[in-house]
Amino acid sequence: MEKIVRQIIEKYGSDPNRLMDILIDIQEQYGYISRDAVALMAQHLNMSQVDVEQTITFYHFLSTRHRGKYAIYLNNSAVAYMFGRQAIKDAFEKELGIKFGQVTEDGAIGLFDTACIGMNDQEPAAIINNKVFTKLTPYRVREIIRHMREGKSLDELMNESYGDGKNQHPYLQTMVSSNIRRKGMILSDDYVMGKVLKTILPNISPEAVIAEIKHSHIRGRGGAGFPTGFKWEFCRKAKGPKHYVVCNADEGEPGTFKDRVILTEKPELVFEGMALAGYAIGGDEGILYLRYEYRYMKDYLESVLKTMKEQNLLGDNIGGIDGFNFDIRIQFGAGAYVCGEESALLESLEGKRGEPRDKPPFPVEKGYLNQPTIINNVETFATAVRIIENGGEWFTQFGTEDSTGTKILSISGDCMFPGVYEVNWGFNVSDMLDMVGAYDVQAVQVGGPSGTLIGPDEFHRTLGYSDLSTGGSMIIFGTQRNLLKDVVLNFMEFFIDESCGSCSTCRNMPQVMRNKLIKILNGNGVKKDLSDLKEWSKVLLASRCGLGQTAGNPIVSSLKNFRPLYEELLQKEVEFDEGFDLVASVQGSCKYVGRVPKFHHHN
Ligand code: SF4
Repeated sequence: MEKIVRQIIEKYGSDPNRLMDILIDIQEQYGYISRDAVALMAQHLNMSQVDVEQTITFYHFLSTRHRGKYAIYLNNSAVAYMFGRQAIKDAFEKELGIKFGQVTEDGAIGLFDTACIGMNDQEPAAIINNKVFTKLTPYRVREIIRHMREGKSLDELMNESYGDGKNQHPYLQTMVSSNIRRKGMILSDDYVMGKVLKTILPNISPEAVIAEIKHSHIRGRGGAGFPTGFKWEFCRKAKGPKHYVVCNADEGEPGTFKDRVILTEKPELVFEGMALAGYAIGGDEGILYLRYEYRYMKDYLESVLKTMKEQNLLGDNIGGIDGFNFDIRIQFGAGAYVCGEESALLESLEGKRGEPRDKPPFPVEKGYLNQPTIINNVETFATAVRIIENGGEWFTQFGTEDSTGTKILSISGDCMFPGVYEVNWGFNVSDMLDMVGAYDVQAVQVGGPSGTLIGPDEFHRTLGYSDLSTGGSMIIFGTQRNLLKDVVLNFMEFFIDESCGSCSTCRNMPQVMRNKLIKILNGNGVKKDLSDLKEWSKVLLASRCGLGQTAGNPIVSSLKNFRPLYEELLQKEVEFDEGFDLVASVQGSCKYVGRVPKFHHHN
């Protein structure tokens, strides 16, 4: 083992900043990261064992205990449950005789829950040894287990059911489908790889690129909506020996999967956008931070990078421009929603726990390795290429005044055609529902669990920064769904699992709120619980990052828009918890200290 671990460490230049890559390679090699491996890493990377361990324990897909020769990660998102996840879970447990969280006695197969894996349009889905199995059925589960027991390769199970489009590419060969239902400027087939880098950049200065991006008024597509042109300009002006371009491909918001589709169908466009950004800010290194759930794309994306290098679209003197050098490498996360937050992402890129940094300083000044860094979403880079190709003015004809351009939506849940739709900003929710074939709709979750849950009286609203802003996740719930039990509770559990734990607010309050929700669901709620939930959620705003600040949203927004659902579960006519017997509850401590309680007791 020592030899192999040392080889892995050396592969990454014995650089402690590459600890994540090293850990992932070791995890994949052995199915876990042993104490001996930790000691070796500490020794060769010149860090303490505790530092190595704290990174391991932060990430869902890293483990110090064996996860099995085959590690099965079954997605537990709300939509997975809507499409039969419980039956799949039961089938796995029955077939293997173990529970989720356990590994079979012979160490062959492990079962684990995992948060949204970006497959909401083809649930129930699971990741098994980096291969994604979609649309699972109990029959399929039995087949998978039989194959494993016979020692057969998982590839054989996929042979006849590759997904659509580039999912059939020799380096992908995956069951995943892209489900592109509507194309716009990003998903359009008229993109010609390298046109911008080779024919436009030689005639336009970096400053002019930034001016054009600013003129387009594009705002970041990840959800926060910061104006991209300003971000690039700040970074270009920031001082530092090296400037970095980071692509945030950590789409972890439950219900979003559009970056998966862009990276599958148009990876060249994203990489070209990163190179374009490198030209604009004066950086020569780009990193694609890709969520581990999309590990299956590794070989494919690396082959695309290779092709682009061969065509001088990456590497030195790109497009014949003297001194325009830019290269991209891919670095993986290891399962942590909070790493979608840009400063947590940077920590993760540097091999640490993904705990958000205090801001300022902002990444444009002090980002990766303390150098000026821009971090943009996959879709933002892709869009930037089309802007430079066609001009900022051209771009403003799409969308609305404060939300220009197109937006790619990931639409899932109760509709006939789940998938990816590229629409102009300003699109109206009820048109969207008609477009995807959604009838009898009770609610739409706009922007994922951290967003808003709206009901039919708000379906006239439009998508855009001045109305309903969204990073792209749209989940539809039909009237047959139990919103509080099946959706809101699931979303609260998600935030509880994903909190990094730094802030006491985010560490505790979502649990308190979840418990109150359960109390209400169990029929023990009283009216005051509703006002408590609303009041208490406010402390979350003091959290350091967006995760904590929005962790109460599932309850807050459903309480606002679906209050009757809560009210009908409450104990009628009861304002307070009369069932609570104060005297009885302090008996124990009174006895202990030898006091008699002096409260009046109404019963
Ligand atoms: Fe971590 Fe939550 Fe605080 Fe964000 S808000 S830093 S996730 S504890």
